[in-house]
Amino acid sequence: MRALVVEDEAILRETLRTRLAAAGFTVDVAADGQEGMFAGLEYPIDVAIIDLGLPGISGLELIRRLRAARKKLPILILTARDNWQDKVEGLQAGADDYVTKPFHFEEVLARVQALLRRAGGWASPQLRCGSVVLDTRAQTVAVGERPVELTTFEYRILEHLMLRAGEVISKAELTERLYDQDFERDSNVIEVLIGRLRRKLDPDEQLHPIETLRGRGYRLALPRETG
Ligand code: CA
Repeated sequence: MRALVVEDEAILRETLRTRLAAAGFTVDVAADGQEGMFAGLEYPIDVAIIDLGLPGISGLELIRRLRAARKKLPILILTARDNWQDKVEGLQAGADDYVTKPFHFEEVLARVQALLRRAGGWASPQLRCGSVVLDTRAQTVAVGERPVELTTFEYRILEHLMLRAGEVISKAELTERLYDQDFERDSNVIEVLIGRLRRKLDPDEQLHPIETLRGRGYRLALPRETG
């Protein structure tokens, strides 16, 4: 998953960057509303964390402009004061949730993960497709009772496919969600990772969890189990 952090306080911005990256996110950061707008329009961002008190374009204005540009990504706002007007205005501008500063990183992470799940149509932090179970909190994967050990990149791909189970996800989209803009992109890597995921999830070739749609991308082909 790719997250955008728009925060003018350098220490807080770097803390969010580091901790989100450690939690498995690809992270873009912006120090003001202008940079945030650029990143929000140019990069395939899955979730944005936006401080309301920004220099230049305010956080509220940034949210309004992103929504006016038809960006539907979930947005979590950071508000400095425990001020109900800020929260109401932020939600009215198009934010989905808020956290009041000072906060514990775990709260930000839990809210971001919940927003992403809901955006993918999932209610629970445990995503189940057929017998494949992915726990977004523990970042663990199992097939039935069998735990499956995945690398960070393999996990990121599977999480993205499962959050949007049933949809076709292009190779380009998966590539962009694996690396931030500084990395060299190589779409052959995705094919290799998908191959490894298939072998790890389905060593006996019984499940066929990931479908290849030639020229279009990949789809998590197992049915979503809800409840
Ligand atoms: Ca600020």
